[in-house]
Amino acid sequence: MTCEEYRVSALEGRDTAAMHEHAAACADCARITPDLRATATVLADRTLWEEPSPELDARVMALIDGSAPHTGDPATPPRRRRAPIAAAVAVAAAVVVAVIAWSGLAGPAPDWEVAIVGTDLAPDASGSVRGWNVDAGTRVEFDVDGLDPAPPGHFYEIWFSRDRVHLSAGTFLTVDDVTATVGAARRDFPRIWVTLEPADEDESPSRHTVLDTG
Ligand SMILES: [Zn+2]
Repeated sequence: MTCEEYRVSALEGRDTAAMHEHAAACADCARITPDLRATATVLADRTLWEEPSPELDARVMALIDGSAPHTGDPATPPRRRRAPIAAAVAVAAAVVVAVIAWSGLAGPAPDWEVAIVGTDLAPDASGSVRGWNVDAGTRVEFDVDGLDPAPPGHFYEIWFSRDRVHLSAGTFLTVDDVTATVGAARRDFPRIWVTLEPADEDESPSRHTVLDTG
């Protein structure tokens, strides 16, 4: 069990043997366990949830990932940061958001998913594209392996197309964690493909297609 897993579990109100084992071996997590437990109790009362500020959200994320255990007012000694109830409620609300963001990294199920394959220019590349219908249009997430980073002076560009009408959905340099939003519905632009583009003045798709849904 990692520290992150321990902290999220504690915030969710869990109490397992694996957690006891971790806390026994990890001084950092053992130290903040009372705070985590107190926050988890508040979290159990949905009537106390409220919109957190971005600052609180960041603070709780820092608490979870341990990157900045004593964030907050730098003039305040850590020992005095034991939050009064009101602050604890606000932190709890932020934790709700953080935990939701944490457990929901994949978000809701996609509205569609389509395979995308590498062309002769990227024969080792393959994967899939998932899409969500959103108010802004269509949000897509690429899950592709085997595509080399764009060479210097170039970038990859995502296109939604219907016949010869091409909408750019954005650009990227490496295919890791690529998400994009295009202002159109996929049913109107069924083909999704990726080109390698030189950084030049030509805004139309190059002939160098590297990935295509066909
Ligand atoms: Zn730990």
